[in-house]
Amino acid sequence: KQIVVIGGVAAGASFAARVRRLNEHARIILVERGKDVSFANCGLPYYIGGEIQTRGALSVQTPETLKALLNLDVKTHTEAIRIDREKKQVYVKNIISGEDEWLDYDKLMLAPGASPRIPDVPGIHHEKILTLRNLADMDRISEVAKAGKRAVVVGAGFIGLEMAEQLHRKGLSVEVVQYGPQVLPQLGKRMAKLLENELVQHGIVLHLNDRVVRYENRNSILECFLESGTVLKADFVVLSVGVEPESRLAREAHLVLGKNGHIVVNDFMQTSDADIYAAGDVVETAHRLSNERTAVPLGGPANRQGRVAADHIFLGEKARPYPGSLGTAIVRVFGTTAGTVGWSENALEKNGRSYGMVTVNDFHHAGYYPGAKPLVLTVFWDRDTDVLLGAQAAGQEGVDKRLDVMATAIAAQMTIDDLVHLELAYAPPFGSAKDIVNIAGFAATNKRDGLVDTISELPDNPDAQIIDVRAKAMADADPVAGGINIPMPALRNHLDRLDRDKPVVTVCALGKNSYFASRILKQNGFDVKSLEGGMKMMT
Ligand code: FAD
Repeated sequence: KQIVVIGGVAAGASFAARVRRLNEHARIILVERGKDVSFANCGLPYYIGGEIQTRGALSVQTPETLKALLNLDVKTHTEAIRIDREKKQVYVKNIISGEDEWLDYDKLMLAPGASPRIPDVPGIHHEKILTLRNLADMDRISEVAKAGKRAVVVGAGFIGLEMAEQLHRKGLSVEVVQYGPQVLPQLGKRMAKLLENELVQHGIVLHLNDRVVRYENRNSILECFLESGTVLKADFVVLSVGVEPESRLAREAHLVLGKNGHIVVNDFMQTSDADIYAAGDVVETAHRLSNERTAVPLGGPANRQGRVAADHIFLGEKARPYPGSLGTAIVRVFGTTAGTVGWSENALEKNGRSYGMVTVNDFHHAGYYPGAKPLVLTVFWDRDTDVLLGAQAAGQEGVDKRLDVMATAIAAQMTIDDLVHLELAYAPPFGSAKDIVNIAGFAATNKRDGLVDTISELPDNPDAQIIDVRAKAMADADPVAGGINIPMPALRNHLDRLDRDKPVVTVCALGKNSYFASRILKQNGFDVKSLEGGMKMMT
């Protein structure tokens, strides 16, 4: 068999490697437009910032090692230009030498990825308005960063935030422009706020609800004119406003594309032509939870999809389908890490799902063990079935572990009751006997069972009695507007201070004591709600 692969990075290289492990005799030709194959795109920001110091560390493989290890014929600087489905051939051209040829294929893999979106804004096509996708882009940004002092990052998604952090680390002054009201639109507002605080504390200027409407180059300084009227001056700009699938080849070959231009594939990554597979950022697949079509441009899905396609070609009936993507993603911004898996609140709302949601605070390991860091976890579940739908976490330590536990639980279609009884690794340096994941299960099942009613913001209702159950010193230092401080241990003895005809809201620092207080009040006949997540989310 002759297998031709277009695109030699995450999905393409994983596919080719798996093909070789399954078939020693196939001829595998890997066609890559760029200079490099199989490089670590996800590591690029960290080289720019200097955390990764060796450029070579990012080249996971080279054409030579791929030949030696996997017997792949790698053609770099070579662009696939056209597919002839009738003849089962691809027309490719070396963009340096100009040499061209038609390659025969028995099976073709399209793994061309996605390219950074360039908004249609006057002045945007400038040599110092840059995007980051490959090693050449990285070198260019490193070069201008060395010479520059001021950078503007447009877009505060995952890559934008990583770039803001790393350019700051490099000693540049950084401003971030974000169209929406918060960084990382996938995250809940309060979690996004933690990342925003972190940026601001490091001196990064954040322009939310704003966008660049024009760029002008004045004496080698780029002026970014924002919709709000603000003008930012920069030595260079990094654009990170999303990606677009590179599906031109597929479109011109009349393969079926989705509404946003992604290649439509079945569960085995086959396109509408059974001999052409596609994987990675260029495809849309089923969402693992909803079965709806979705595009998840992340490294994990790309690698696993490549493997699925190879299995389908060579393993026959033993091949297992791609189960769909969950969208598990994480980012670190200086000392704070945040991430998400599965459905977000916005997506649940948009889809009209009936869902429950709980936010809990705790520490990443036993609070009494030195170095315990606060952690916040939000969990979403289906109200009808109690099955988990999504989770988000933020904190300084242990965020990745909780997200991964939740990703596993969600993939296994566990319920909020299952979270209660997950038996997680515990000794004081690592976790807690009741890990925050268990606590989320406790809180979710308490909510479901009507043991507690919660609110997420302090009420406007002037009749509401806001009972602050924090210790007096804490309440004095950071008073709640309109609140009455009755520390939790004293509450049972002061019930007569409260009006039973008026609603009560209990408030504490992290949401736990206010829940305890609400249980006391509820069992004493009060109409009570607890402020979920508490007053301070990890200050
Ligand atoms: P790519 O890796 O983009 O590879 C596609 C290749 O195809 C490209 O090299 C391109 O040159 C080549 N190509 C395109 N068209 C042609 C053609 N016609 N002929 C020949 N070759 C062609 N994901 C995470 O999960 N976690 C992270 O932390 C993370 N960080 C990232 C940071 C950065 C800066 C970037 C850019 C991406 C990051 N990602 C991350 C996303 C992840 O890298 C991608 O999801 C993944 O690389 C997609 O793999 P792919 O094979 O589909 O596409």
